[in-house]
Amino acid sequence: MSDNKPVIRMDAEAPEGYEGEGFFATNLSSVIGMARKFSLWPLPFATSCCGIEFMATLNPTFDASRFGMERNSFSPRQADMLMVCGTIAKKLGPVLKQVYTQMAEPKWVIAVGACASSGGIFDTYSVLQGIDKIIPVDVYVPGCPPRPEQIIEGVMQVQALCESESIRRRDMPEYQSLLESYDIK
Ligand code: SF4
Repeated sequence: MSDNKPVIRMDAEAPEGYEGEGFFATNLSSVIGMARKFSLWPLPFATSCCGIEFMATLNPTFDASRFGMERNSFSPRQADMLMVCGTIAKKLGPVLKQVYTQMAEPKWVIAVGACASSGGIFDTYSVLQGIDKIIPVDVYVPGCPPRPEQIIEGVMQVQALCESESIRRRDMPEYQSLLESYDIK
């Protein structure tokens, strides 16, 4: 029988704020950022070998659930972190773009592995040379394939973005012009 005991962690970092006897005050943006950071819902868009590595990331050895990304979603409307794992053929590009546009704001994108980041070894007429040709990418994870630790590092980079970004990123002029450059409304 396992002798594992449940561990309740009490040392998560609190956002910056003011505290005194019996109270702690901070701004709404920090609280929302912290909540988003620990409740990311990934949408795995896995087309080839990197997808297997993503599966390993979820297994008990690496346990991606520790980061709050317990629930994988296969519906874009109920996901906020698109993880593109694998080679994307040009014919699949419009499908990937549609999946991205169907996701609710705020949303983040990780290009997992060399193929999603740059086409990888497939410098051919049929393969998209990086998903950033069609959708904005927040984090690139290098490797062919990347180890689960690298994928987890990518997730942690997204977490850092969630906690530091504006509460309504969509309203920021930089973000709007970025989407316009991809012809996404
Ligand atoms: S980066 Fe390498 S491991 Fe990942 S999908 Fe491409 S060929 Fe496969």
